Amino acid sequence: MVENAYDAVVVGAGGDGPVTAWKLAEAGLSVLVLEAGPFHGNEQWPNPHEEPGGEASSSVEDLSGDLLDEQFTTRELEMITNLVFGPADHERGFWFRKFPGDGAILQCAGVGGTTLHYTGCHPRAYPASIDEQGHWPIEYADLVPYYREVEEMCEVAPAPVTAKEELFFRGAEAAGWDLIEDLNVTEPGYRPQPNAIRQPDEKLHVDGDYDGEFTYPDVEGDTLALGNIAGNPHPRGAPFEEKAKRASNVSFVPAALRTDNVTIRPNAFVTDVLTETPRGDTPTATGVEFRDTWSGATERVDAEVVVLAAGAIETPRLWLNADLPENDWVGRGLTIHFGDNVMGLWDGDDLEETIGKPTVDQHEGQDIAARLDYPGVGMLQTVGTAPGIGAILGFGASASGFAFQNDPADAPWDTMGRLAGSDLKRLLSDYRRMLQVLVVSDDRPHQRNGVSVAPGASDEHGPIPIVNYEPSEGDRKRRDELAETAAEILREAGASHVHRSDSPPTALHVHSTMRMGKVVDEACEAYDVDRLFVADHSALANGVGGANPTNTGQALAARTGEKIVERHF
Ligand SMILES: Cc1cc2nc3c(=O)[nH]c(=O)nc-3n(C[C@H](O)[C@H](O)[C@H](O)COP(=O)(O)OP(=O)(O)OC[C@H]3O[C@@H](n4cnc5c(N)ncnc54)[C@H](O)[C@@H]3O)c2cc1C
Repeated sequence: MVENAYDAVVVGAGGDGPVTAWKLAEAGLSVLVLEAGPFHGNEQWPNPHEEPGGEASSSVEDLSGDLLDEQFTTRELEMITNLVFGPADHERGFWFRKFPGDGAILQCAGVGGTTLHYTGCHPRAYPASIDEQGHWPIEYADLVPYYREVEEMCEVAPAPVTAKEELFFRGAEAAGWDLIEDLNVTEPGYRPQPNAIRQPDEKLHVDGDYDGEFTYPDVEGDTLALGNIAGNPHPRGAPFEEKAKRASNVSFVPAALRTDNVTIRPNAFVTDVLTETPRGDTPTATGVEFRDTWSGATERVDAEVVVLAAGAIETPRLWLNADLPENDWVGRGLTIHFGDNVMGLWDGDDLEETIGKPTVDQHEGQDIAARLDYPGVGMLQTVGTAPGIGAILGFGASASGFAFQNDPADAPWDTMGRLAGSDLKRLLSDYRRMLQVLVVSDDRPHQRNGVSVAPGASDEHGPIPIVNYEPSEGDRKRRDELAETAAEILREAGASHVHRSDSPPTALHVHSTMRMGKVVDEACEAYDVDRLFVADHSALANGVGGANPTNTGQALAARTGEKIVERHF
């Protein structure tokens, strides 16, 4: 049951919110987590998309692996619909956010947030992006103890190497890059992804001859059958907390519930932050107002501390719609790791020579399991997807129009642009001999990029987020350099055809819209509102150098939990 008052209310149960909730609850505080989307795999909501179900969950006993198996299929496109950023009741459509060009913002609603979709890549930030770019009010060393804690909770380990990773490593080595063995990355090089995914069951090792079932308890840990992007369903049959991918719903949420100090209320969209302002003083946060997404009823809850963890688009939107004090950096400085896709295609005979078989088989292993780190520029990572997702990400959209409109005569790729018709068909029919590399650039925070609201464009929760993103010349240069590096690695690995998408800006990673040092102080408390904290990726002061951001977002959220207790309790 939800009470009228708590020590702390956390807005959003995504990647980072549950981390702060867990820290606060471990210190003995009562915590309410309000989440806009549904709670999957919880006995209180046996049919989360068909009926309102229960009100809230406060017990780890409510979590059910069997229910999660029923609700999470392994079909990627179906899961994208299932986890879409919108109300649990899909009859009502998704929540719209305006984004420029042909790109999109990919976020999930629900307990676990966008980590339900994430591929579990959990590297640390590049130290130079924190210590040398001048955006951060704290040092890299301040985060290291929290990285260790998060990595232990998420069981971070080097991803297993299958054929697609082996091919990438060969190409990287032949192109002159070194193998990196340290978690703190100061020099460029390649390495297996540090992934928040349990190691594969020993039975599945390459030299084994296991031909039994791939379900729990026959196998435990990772099944090496992709599916990381589709919720976290492997291994099927495993108890809730034994799923291989350590998204926040199976890692931090059970830990938070186990304290018996946390209540999670899904289907609750927060629309206002309540404040009191003693005459002439800074406002103090006192609670929030939220809307039940099934009934439409509005409720209020009081709290000693309010923590915003609604993600880098919705947290600034909430601030702006709540009419909190003006600050030129609220919603500004958005970074999205301005990305691209470069794809290699091999002839079967060449593959046979390099990796001993005629196919790459990108559907085997973990979705993203090999990377090249390039501090100061960004990173590259291999991607294994089902053909449909690959086609959408890699070939479905381009800032350069269709491939036949571009002449890549002097470029390191053979084709560039959007593929359609017979070209697309030919490439997709060669799917098993193809490998895609995702380019992730170290784009920098610019004040023109970010989230604003306008009174005319509203939904049931107030003015919607209007997102602006235009990379700078420097951001474009870094992305071009990475695309060229990817092409060289694929060629060195023997690819006979290299294709560059020149993808339009698409927001998979969103950060730095409520930046530390600009909107929040070194404890992540707002400069302009007392007792109001930010604990999601919006508090990151930049894009952490291009490294996947969740390890850093969660490390910072853990630190913020401790700072809240130190300052106010
Ligand atoms: C396909 C894909 C793959 C990815 N892979 C990786 C990866 O491998 N590694 C990595 O580091 N990152 C990855 N990411 C990004 C990663 O998932 C996000 O960076 C991370 O989840 C962000 O955490 P967050 O807490 O800031 O926001 P979110 O996880 O988005 O959580 C925000 C939560 O707040 C809720 N919410 C929003 N508004 C309100 C409101 N007003 N009231 C109540 N609740 C609200 C949302 O429903 C959501 O649950 C990936 C993203 C995508 C889309």
